[in-house]
Amino acid sequence: MVKPFIIGTVNARDFLHIGKEILRRGGSALDAVEATVNAVENNPMDTSVGLGGIPNMLGVVQLDASIMDGRTLKTGAVAAVENYVNVISIARKVMENSPHVLLVGKGAELFAEMMGFKKSELLTEKSRTIYKAFLEDSLDKLDERFSEKGYIIDYIKNFDLREWYSKLADDYHGTVNVMAMDDRGDVCSGVSTSGTALKFPGRVGDSPIIGAGNYCDNRVGAAACTGRGELAIRLSTARTIVSYMDNGLKVKDACIKAMRDINSLKELGGMNCLAFDKHGETFSASTTRVSVHYYMDVDSDEPEERQGETVRD
Ligand code: ASP
Repeated sequence: MVKPFIIGTVNARDFLHIGKEILRRGGSALDAVEATVNAVENNPMDTSVGLGGIPNMLGVVQLDASIMDGRTLKTGAVAAVENYVNVISIARKVMENSPHVLLVGKGAELFAEMMGFKKSELLTEKSRTIYKAFLEDSLDKLDERFSEKGYIIDYIKNFDLREWYSKLADDYHGTVNVMAMDDRGDVCSGVSTSGTALKFPGRVGDSPIIGAGNYCDNRVGAAACTGRGELAIRLSTARTIVSYMDNGLKVKDACIKAMRDINSLKELGGMNCLAFDKHGETFSASTTRVSVHYYMDVDSDEPEERQGETVRD
């Protein structure tokens, strides 16, 4: 029997103890993942998840999230949600209280309201400042109409949206990945994000797309992604990692192979993955940067930093 544990990306490090405590008391992997992701969503200092996430081109924060239950392969996801901070919890409600898997935009917000979630302001002073700086530093140099919302249409007509997307620095996006195994051997993976900073309104990344940014299965393990979501969508990266493990690769080799798949696209932007197998082996990999992830089991006092691998070829 594997000792219950929880792992996460760097932005979850300081909150993993919340999930660990749930697991230590015999709680479920689902509860541990949800509570840990909620803490990251509520953290105003994180500019890539929940409260304080950098807004889209129009200055509006739109959040994406998904959660998966590895015992039943049930899953729930929401995308392009405005004015609700704990989108992982809305995703869980989609999984448990609706016949659906994915709700988007206004429909997801209506569902959240029906489920009793409270609306909240997602912009913070910090994210407003970043947005303003973007407008001042780049957009209005390209076109003075950027000061008005109508600029988007003109922009698309006159400029190349791909070029705009390529200008977005890798520093301006991020996501939280948290995944856990409980004392029943049940696994869960959760992903929450505000997506690419200054994204086109309605743009949806890999995080709420099951199989792309998130996947788990008790019989095999779990995997999730951060990075340029379009790439993980094209390659179904999270599901692919789980499939590679199912077909005999070790978790490390499955992650490395999936990052090689990303590199073979020869596209702009990087990808990062985090995974574990059913034996509790963990690994992470990145196409662009030093890869680390954080681990706590029910006996840990502090999160343990674990090295992954950078896969450039
Ligand atoms: N994967 C997220 C997205 O594409 C963003 C990120 O992780 O940086 O929406």
